[in-house]
Amino acid sequence: MAETTPEFTEASKCFRCKLPGEPAATVPSDGGSTLHVFFCRTEGCRWEDTSWVVQVMKNGTLAHRRKGEKDFPVMPQWQIDRARRQIEVIEHEQATGTQTGPGDWS
Ligand SMILES: [Zn+2]
Repeated sequence: MAETTPEFTEASKCFRCKLPGEPAATVPSDGGSTLHVFFCRTEGCRWEDTSWVVQVMKNGTLAHRRKGEKDFPVMPQWQIDRARRQIEVIEHEQATGTQTGPGDWS
């Protein structure tokens, strides 16, 4: 599972406070890759309530991340928007108990 690789574990941490982010959404993306959206929930962290996206390719590697770079790749805006919409769908489902079929938010 890609989710258990050390690289993914590292990428799931807030890069400000270095604590694990809260998984907010998992969104299918291009070419069989998956976007994992995390939020920092650390009180007082500069990134508190800030989200970031980790893209895992179909083969389990992380997209665009090069060793030695301190920053994570900036996602194309449409991908971020799509991930955020997915979060809204999930939150809506959690709030209302309704289920949205796959693909309805694409
Ligand atoms: Zn943080």
